[in-house]
Amino acid sequence: MFHVKHTKIIVVGGGHAGVEAAGAAARMGADVSLVTLNKAAIGAMSCNPAIGGLGKGHLVREVDALDGIMGRAADAAGIHYRLLNRSKGPAVQGPRAQMDRALYRAAVQAAVAAHGIEVIEDQVVDLCVQDGRVVGVVTTQHGDLSADAVVLTTGTFLGGVIHIGREMRSGGRMGEDASSALAKRLRSLGLPMGRLKTGTPPRLRKDSIDWDSLESQPGDSEPVMLSFLSKAPAARQIHCGITHTNSKTHEIIRANLAESAMYSGNITGSGPRYCPSIEDKISRFADKDSHQVFLEPEGLNDNTVYPNGISTSLSAEVQLDYVRSIAGLERAEIVQPGYAIEYDYVDPRALDATLQLKALPGLWLAGQINGTTGYEEAAAQGLVAAMFAVCSARDEPMEIFSRSNSYIGVLIDDLIHRGVTEPYRMFTSRAEFRLSLRADNADQRLTPIGVDLGVVTAERHSAFEAKLRSLDEGRRVLGRDTYSSKEARSVGIELALDGSKRTGLELLGLPKVEIGQVCELVEGASDLPADVLAQLHREAIYAKYLERQQRDVDRLRSEETTEIPRDLDFAAIHGLSAELKEKLRKAQPTSIASARKVEGVTPAALNAILLALRSRE
Ligand code: FAD
Repeated sequence: MFHVKHTKIIVVGGGHAGVEAAGAAARMGADVSLVTLNKAAIGAMSCNPAIGGLGKGHLVREVDALDGIMGRAADAAGIHYRLLNRSKGPAVQGPRAQMDRALYRAAVQAAVAAHGIEVIEDQVVDLCVQDGRVVGVVTTQHGDLSADAVVLTTGTFLGGVIHIGREMRSGGRMGEDASSALAKRLRSLGLPMGRLKTGTPPRLRKDSIDWDSLESQPGDSEPVMLSFLSKAPAARQIHCGITHTNSKTHEIIRANLAESAMYSGNITGSGPRYCPSIEDKISRFADKDSHQVFLEPEGLNDNTVYPNGISTSLSAEVQLDYVRSIAGLERAEIVQPGYAIEYDYVDPRALDATLQLKALPGLWLAGQINGTTGYEEAAAQGLVAAMFAVCSARDEPMEIFSRSNSYIGVLIDDLIHRGVTEPYRMFTSRAEFRLSLRADNADQRLTPIGVDLGVVTAERHSAFEAKLRSLDEGRRVLGRDTYSSKEARSVGIELALDGSKRTGLELLGLPKVEIGQVCELVEGASDLPADVLAQLHREAIYAKYLERQQRDVDRLRSEETTEIPRDLDFAAIHGLSAELKEKLRKAQPTSIASARKVEGVTPAALNAILLALRSRE
C-alpha cells in the first residue's frame, strides 16, 4: 500500500450525488464525513422509483465502472427490468430498472456503512472561508467542521418551495424542511444563482386500483443488470400496469389549469421540458386525446403505486378528479398528492471542469444544485467532484473526463460551457461519440482510470481483469482463422461468393449474423462464455462504424468556423425540435462554433444546420 496524504473531505447532503461523493472519497482513502439533514433518508428517491433509462443507463454504468454505489444498490433492489430501445443498436439502448424504494434505501445505507463513512445528522448553515478558500462548514448542532475540501450536494433543498395548486409552503421535498440559511449564504457570496422547478405525480393506493382491467407489463425475460458485477436480480420481479388518460381527463385538467401552480404564475423557475407535467402535455400537445400512464408499484411490500406520466401541481381535489377519470383508477385513492418544487441552483458556468467553484476554491458542487435533474446525473457528478476534490487536496494531478471518453465528460462539458435554462438531463443524442461510448463498454473505458486513481476496490479490479482476459481469449479464438464465403454459407450466413476470407470476428460484425452461426463455424467458439460472445458481437458490429463516427466528428470540428448568416430561418430547418428552433432564434449564433454552445444543441442538430446552409449555396 502506497502512502497517501491524510485528507479530510466533508460532503453535504445524503442524496444520490452526496452518497457517491462520500463513497468515492472513502475508497480513495480519505477521511469522510457526510453531513445530511436526515440519516434515515439517505438513499431516498424523491420522485420516480427507477434507476437508469435512455442516456441515464449509460451514466449508471459509468458510475459503476468507477466502483460507485448506484448500480449495485439498484441490482439489490430492482423489481422490474427493461432494456429501453431494445430494438435499436446497443449504443442507444438504456438499461433501466424499477426499484423497491425500501430495498434501495437499505442497500445504499449499507454501502455507506461499509465504506466507513461518518454520517452526521445536522444542517449545514454556512461555509467556513479562510483567505478566499473554503475550509469547512458551519452546522447548527455540531458547530464548525473543518476539511481539506467540501462537496456540496443539497439537491432540491436550497430555498425549496413546494406547490400544490395555489398552496405554497417551504420544503426540500415532501415531508422535509428546505435549506434556507445555506441558500441565503450562497446568495450573499454573489454566486450566479437561479430558480428551477420540477414535479412529481400523486401516489396511489395499490389496492384501490382495478388491476384486472388493465394491460399488464412484465419486465424483460432476460434482465440486463445495472452493475457490471451483478449476474441476476436479487429481488422478486413484478409486473406493472399500463393505462391511458382520455378526453374526460384532459377536460378536467384544462378546466382547472388556472389552479395549477405552474400556470397560475406562482412558479418562476423553469421545468424540465422533456419530463413534462400532465398540465404541460395537455397544453403543448393539444391535439393528442390520450397519454400513456405506467402504474409502477413502489415496492414488494408497499401499498403505494407511482403513476408515471401524470406529474402535476394541480390542487389535491382536482388531482383526485382527473385520476379517477382514468380507466382502472375509477376508485383510486391518493396517498400523497403530486406537487411541484421550486429551488435554487448555481449556474454551472461558475464551475471549472472539476466541478469546483472558480470563485471559491475548496468548494465542489454536484447534483441538482448544478441545474441537473435525475438521480444518475447527480450520482455521476458527485463521484467525479469527490475524486477531483481528493486529488486536489493531495496535490495530485487528475485527468479531466472528456466528451470522447464518457457521458460524464459530456455532462460536465455541457454544464460548465453552456449552462442550463431548464433542468438538464442526459440523452444519448448529446454525445457525439455515442457509438463508442456505449453502456456495455463503460468498464473498459473507465475502470482503468479508476484503478489508477485508487477509486476502484480490489474486488472490482480483479473481476475487471478477469473479464479482460476472457475477452482477449475470445478475440484470439474468433480472430485466429479465416473462413471463405462458402464455409460461411454452410452455417447459413448469406455472403456473395467473392473469394474473400473473413475471421470469426469479422463475420460477427456482418448484418443479421447470429452468434450461434459463428459458433458452429469457429472451433472453440462455443466454449466461450455467453457474455463474452455477446460483448464481442457488440464490438464487432460497431467496429466498422467507429471510423465513420470519427470522420463525422472531425468534419463537424472543421466546420466550426462556418458562418451562419443573420437571415437563416431556424424555424424552417428540418430535423430541429420546436424548442431548439426557438433557442437558436433567440441566441442568433453567428457561426457553427457559437451554435454548438447553445444549450440543447446536439451533434445531429449541428448537422441539420450545416445541411440547411449547404442547401442555400
Ligand atoms: P437530493 O437527492 O435532493 O439530496 C439532497 C440531500 O441534501 C438530502 O439528503 C438533504 O437532506 C441534504 N441537504 C440539503 N440541504 C442540506 C443542508 N443544508 N445540510 C445538510 N444536508 C442538506 N428527477 C428526474 O430525473 N425526473 C423527475 O421527473 C424528477 N422529479 C422530481 C420531483 C420532485 C418533487 C423532486 C423533489 C425531485 C425530482 N427529481 C426528478 C429529481 C431527483 O430527485 C434529483 O435529481 C436527485 O435526487 C438529485 O440528487 P441530489 O443528490 O442532487 O439531491
